[in-house]
Amino acid sequence: MQEVPIPTIGPRDVLVKVRAASICGTDYHIYTWDPWSAGRVKPPLTIGHELAGEVVATGREVTACKVGDYVSAETHVVCNRCPRCHVGEYHLCENTQILGVDTDGVFAEYVAIPEQNIWVNDKDIPFELQSIQEPLGNAVHTALSGELTARSVLVTGCGPIGIMSVAVAKMAGAEIVMAMDINEYRLQLAGQLGADVLINPTKQDPVEAVRSYTRGYGADVVLEMSGNPSAIRQGLRAARNGARISLLGLPGRPVELDLAADVIMRGLVLQGITGRRMWQTWYQVRSLYRAGLAERLRPLITHRLPLEQLDTAMELMGSGQSGKIVLLPDLKA
Ligand code: NAD
Ligand code: ZN
Repeated sequence: MQEVPIPTIGPRDVLVKVRAASICGTDYHIYTWDPWSAGRVKPPLTIGHELAGEVVATGREVTACKVGDYVSAETHVVCNRCPRCHVGEYHLCENTQILGVDTDGVFAEYVAIPEQNIWVNDKDIPFELQSIQEPLGNAVHTALSGELTARSVLVTGCGPIGIMSVAVAKMAGAEIVMAMDINEYRLQLAGQLGADVLINPTKQDPVEAVRSYTRGYGADVVLEMSGNPSAIRQGLRAARNGARISLLGLPGRPVELDLAADVIMRGLVLQGITGRRMWQTWYQVRSLYRAGLAERLRPLITHRLPLEQLDTAMELMGSGQSGKIVLLPDLKA
C-alpha cells in the first residue's frame, strides 16, 4: 500500500472517487505475480478494475457524465480504429488495453477513466452491487449468447461469474439450472442463488447426473465458467447432441479434447466469449438489475473490507471460501 498522487485527467477523462471496488480473479493472479502477470504487467501500477464511484471532475470535452454522477466502467479500453472496432465489435478490438492491468486501476481512492469507458449507474443501487456489474457482464454476455428460456442449462464452475450465470439463467426462464463445482462452499452459494441441482464431480459422475435430470439426453446449454480441463471435457459429454457450449473460463494452458467423439460427431456448437459487448451487455445488465437481479445477487457478496485490508482480502480469495469480495475505501478498519 503506497501513497500516490491523485491521477491527473486529460480533456476526455473522468476523475472518479472510488466508493466500492470488487476483486476479480485477475487481481489475484497479479497479486500472486504468476507467470502471466510477470509477462504482462509493468509495475509500478495501481491494480483493480471493477468499481463503483462518484464523478468528482471531468475533462473539458467530456459530455458522457457530470460531477456527482454514480458511475462504473467498462474495463476494456478499445482503439476505435481497427477493423473490429469499425464494425462495432468493440469487445473484439485488436488493440484492447485493460484498466488495472495496462493502466492505473481502481484499488485506490481516485481513478482516472477515459470518457468512452464510463457507464452511468442508477443511483438507488448500492455501490457494492454497482461494482460487480463488470463480471456480471461476463456472465450475461455468456448466458445470453443463445436461447435460455425453457432450456436445460449446465454451469460448470461456480466461482462468482458461474454463480451469476446461474442467477441470470433462472431469470431468463431456464427449465432447469444445474450447477457444478468441486468446492462445496461455492456449490451451496450457487444453490442459494437459485441453482436447481448441485453437482460435485468429486462425489458423483457429473455426466450421469446431468443425463438423469434431462431425460437421458444431456443439457441444451453448457456455460463453461471454470477454465478447468476436466470440467470442460465433462461439460462437453454432459451436453445433448447439437448443444450450445459457451466458454468463458480461461484454462491456464492448452487443453486436450476428443474433438471427433465429443464435438464433431455430436454437432456441438462451441463459442468463445470474451469481455462484454459494448454496450449491449451493459444495457442488459441494467435491465436485469431493474427487473430484480440486483436484489437476487446480494448473497453473492460475502465479504466487505476496507481498502487497507487488501492482503486479508487476497488470502480469502486464495482460500476459495468466498463469493464476491468488495473493498470499500470509506469503511474504517
Ligand atoms: P473462479 O476461479 O473464482 O471460479 C472458477 C470455479 O471453478 C471455482 O469455484 C472452482 O472451484 C471451479 N472449478 C475448478 N475445477 C473444477 C472442476 N474440475 N469442476 C468444476 N468446477 C471446477 O473464477 P471467476 O472469477 O468466477 O471466473 C470464471 C472463469 O472465467 C475464470 O477462468 C476466469 O479466468 C474467466 N474469465 C474470463 C473472462 C473472459 O473474458 N473470457 C472474463 C473474466 C473471467
Ligand atoms: Zn480496436
